Amino acid sequence: MADITVERPATGVDVGPLRERVRGGVIAAADEGYNEARVVHNGMFDKHPLAVLRAEQVADVIAGVNFARDNGLDLSIRAGAHSAPGFGTNDGGLVIDMSPMHGVRVDPKAKTARVEGGATWGDLNHASHAFGLAVTGGIISTTGVAGLTLGGGIGYLDRGLGLSLDNLISADVVTADGKFVTASERENEDLFWGLRGGGGNFGVVTSLEFRLHDVGTVFAGPIFYNIEDASALLHMYSEFIRTAPEQFGGFPAFQIAPPLPFIPENRHGDTLALAVVHWAGPLDEAEKVLKPFHDVAPIVADGSGPLPYPALNGAFDALYPKGIRAYWKSAFAKELPDAAIAAHVEHGSKVPEVSATMHLYPINGACHRVGPTDTAFAYRDANFSMVILAAWQDPTKDAERIQWVRDYYQALTPYSEPGGYINFMQDDDYGKIEDNYRQNYDRLVQVKRTYDPGNLFHVNQNIKP
Ligand SMILES: Cc1cc2nc3c(=O)[nH]c(=O)nc-3n(C[C@H](O)[C@H](O)[C@H](O)COP(=O)(O)OP(=O)(O)OC[C@H]3O[C@@H](n4cnc5c(N)ncnc54)[C@H](O)[C@@H]3O)c2cc1C
Repeated sequence: MADITVERPATGVDVGPLRERVRGGVIAAADEGYNEARVVHNGMFDKHPLAVLRAEQVADVIAGVNFARDNGLDLSIRAGAHSAPGFGTNDGGLVIDMSPMHGVRVDPKAKTARVEGGATWGDLNHASHAFGLAVTGGIISTTGVAGLTLGGGIGYLDRGLGLSLDNLISADVVTADGKFVTASERENEDLFWGLRGGGGNFGVVTSLEFRLHDVGTVFAGPIFYNIEDASALLHMYSEFIRTAPEQFGGFPAFQIAPPLPFIPENRHGDTLALAVVHWAGPLDEAEKVLKPFHDVAPIVADGSGPLPYPALNGAFDALYPKGIRAYWKSAFAKELPDAAIAAHVEHGSKVPEVSATMHLYPINGACHRVGPTDTAFAYRDANFSMVILAAWQDPTKDAERIQWVRDYYQALTPYSEPGGYINFMQDDDYGKIEDNYRQNYDRLVQVKRTYDPGNLFHVNQNIKP
């Protein structure tokens, strides 16, 4: 990203007292490293906070929360910095960057992990894989564990193990009054309920405790098809996924073929349909389970095979480097009728960039075994979570890329639920918050009133107290 001349934001707040109270760095506009510290993953958000606090300890987080509250500053909380609406930065306020706190302690006997609030999925998967263990996480290794889990946590393992948040045992939180509390099924139960889906609305999560499961080597990867076979693939998938064994967790997509070695060179740059398959069951059963993906249509390129789970988690990282511009839209769906498939084929065929795609994640199986009011995540009856994502480098393409996403999303609206996944919302989706939370919205407001009545934590998909 080009270096941008920075002027000191005109909030008039002196960050000196904050520097004295913390061990982590406080990076203000005049400090070296400010331009790296202020940016987030999505290059569309070029903001200039008053300062970025790189928290090293819970004590730093407490100091940062108190400082932001007492000075009336906007406060962004950042873990992996992947928020598509750029919530991890702001103009003139404070950012608490949790990324220095990325430690993971695995208890292999109890099959649990304690993960600090700034860790990424790469950090957690690396640590737990040493013991042949994993938990549902996202499909990219650089996404933050905290941000992803607090909104839900959709990934390859969710049909078998539930969402990431379904595996949360407890969380340590610094609340708006600067107090440190633990939330679990046994203490601060209302906060624990709200954290599991309510995003960053209730405080700064300094650590998360997860249940882990036996997941080591999986059989996974992308299988590419001619675009003419996209309809057959989607029809097959919509039936297959209803009853597929729960260790299957893949999804269909559209993509321009990247120049990968397993794709024939003469197909690089072609628009293709694909299925990212994932089988976490016994490896000798993979061939049988994945047979429908081999039978449905001629295969252009097959990149699937056995690989360690963390390798799969990092496989697509290069498509989404830090600073890439991004815009997305998302909705849940219960069914995939013929007309919805036709709309997918029409708009998916126009996918404009290698880093643009549509993913249709399955969220049935274990995700449905948790009740719709048991956690704040409201859509336990949806079978699919669709995300239409454009990511691109050239700022002159902004309008065109955004339009492709909007047109695609619009075409699917008749077949979608009113709400979508909170973690796939864009900055123009604030109007959907009540729909996203449905029956759980009122209780979330109650929890917000208890833990953050002044709405200090408002740089997020905000639940107003
Ligand atoms: C390339 C890419 C791939 C993705 N893949 C998936 C996927 O496979 N599955 C999926 O479910 N989602 C996925 N997402 C969406 C992702 O879940 C959200 O963007 C999520 O908010 C990112 O979390 P983060 O910590 O990286 O982001 P950040 O921008 O750091 O945080 C996002 C928000 O989460 C809250 N937050 C973060 N850390 C804390 C904390 N320690 N305490 C309190 N609140 C906190 C804050 O409100 C913050 O604004 C993906 C996003 C991207 C950009």
